[in-house]
Amino acid sequence: MQNNWSRYVRMIILLLGACTLLGYLAGYPLYGLLAGLFGYLGWTLLQARRLYQWLANPNRYSEAPQSVGLWGDLFDGLHKLNQNHLRTRDLLRARINRIQESTNAMHDGVIMTDAGGVMEWWNGAAEKLLGFRRQTDQGQIIYNLIRNPAFKAYYDSKDYREPLEIASPSRPHLHLQIQISLFGDDDRLIVAKDITRLVQLEQMRRDFVGNVSHEMRTPLTVISGYLETLSDHLDELPPKWRRAIATMSQQSSRMEALITDLILLSRIETGEQTVDDTVQDLGPMLRQICDDARALSGDQQHRFEISVPEGSVLKGDESQLRSAFSNLVFNAVKYTPARGSIHVTWCADREGGHLTVRDTGIGIDPVHIPRLTERFYRADPSRHKDTGGTGLGLAIVKHVLINHDGHLEIRSRMGEGSEFICHFPRERLAEPGVASAAS
Ligand code: ADP
Repeated sequence: MQNNWSRYVRMIILLLGACTLLGYLAGYPLYGLLAGLFGYLGWTLLQARRLYQWLANPNRYSEAPQSVGLWGDLFDGLHKLNQNHLRTRDLLRARINRIQESTNAMHDGVIMTDAGGVMEWWNGAAEKLLGFRRQTDQGQIIYNLIRNPAFKAYYDSKDYREPLEIASPSRPHLHLQIQISLFGDDDRLIVAKDITRLVQLEQMRRDFVGNVSHEMRTPLTVISGYLETLSDHLDELPPKWRRAIATMSQQSSRMEALITDLILLSRIETGEQTVDDTVQDLGPMLRQICDDARALSGDQQHRFEISVPEGSVLKGDESQLRSAFSNLVFNAVKYTPARGSIHVTWCADREGGHLTVRDTGIGIDPVHIPRLTERFYRADPSRHKDTGGTGLGLAIVKHVLINHDGHLEIRSRMGEGSEFICHFPRERLAEPGVASAAS
């Protein structure tokens, strides 16, 4: 096109020269030049009008106007540009359609919102799972449709490392797992997964464990009762039975402890034992636990140090908190050699309340720490026979803390001791004045 440019300029000059020459031959060279200029201007205006009309036409699939010379080249160039643009647009549209088709085929609901929570797009599964309607909900704010305070808090938090579980707003029997990802300019991609079946299975598992434990309790009570009667008359029994009865009594006590812990854990987990939010005075509770731990320590003479400031209180369920703290203090006794020290400390700061149980015991290899709160997980299975533990203590602690919006932190060094810290949020710290209700 650049090569043509000088040719077009030459042609215009030639045209104007020819007009001037014709004018000259007629005796009016200036009129000839003017006639040439106006003629060219008129032709240019005509071409510009054709271009204008073509650009104004919404149906740009039509061909660009045809012309000759400079305007012909311009029209050809514009036509090619337009064709490229249309091709790219069709390609992008086809891709978007394909992505939409594939997300529509998904079983999980997918929703796209902008930074303000305005719903921009969602797939068919989102309509089924969350009850959105295409005609009315486009452009709505998402948390006006999913009216759940936990969802709003999760959406605004921008901390999406863990998914959120909620009931479907349109079909409350459905359990949904919501996972949000940030993209673009604070936009969000929300994926809603139907986990109803998983939740039901989990519930069945808990019910099963709870029911089996209950069913086992009655026969075990009968066996323990008879064993106790036999133990009372050990002297009258032949010597070879005495050891057998002693071992049977020991094992039935272990089994009773196990069943008690299983029932407790299943109640805490299923929410059957709901958190009774009353104000607990921690001083008397922890002192009582340490007294019991002293009895457990017996002639091992562990040294106990309790540091609980006067008036330390916590909102929560008395029996759940008591069993969680007892488990930690009793573990400290079980896993600390004779004459070791056990420190029980409570402190409150801006972040919340923290109960620490520290011992100078055998410690735990760091590889085991992440799994310690799993049911029946033991750092060293060969040791637990001596301690008589059920393997459920820390699982109970974990679930009690979950029920109290807290979490457990474990620090330990092999051979030096361990530290178990229960963290509670600020909202659980009650005013000291109201503690009397608990004591
Ligand atoms: P167990 O009934 O076996 O004590 P827990 O759930 O209470 O079960 O504890 C799980 C495991 O964690 C224990 O088997 C033990 O290996 C380890 N553990 C718990 N507390 C301590 C502690 N204070 N010191 C060392 N190890 C501990």
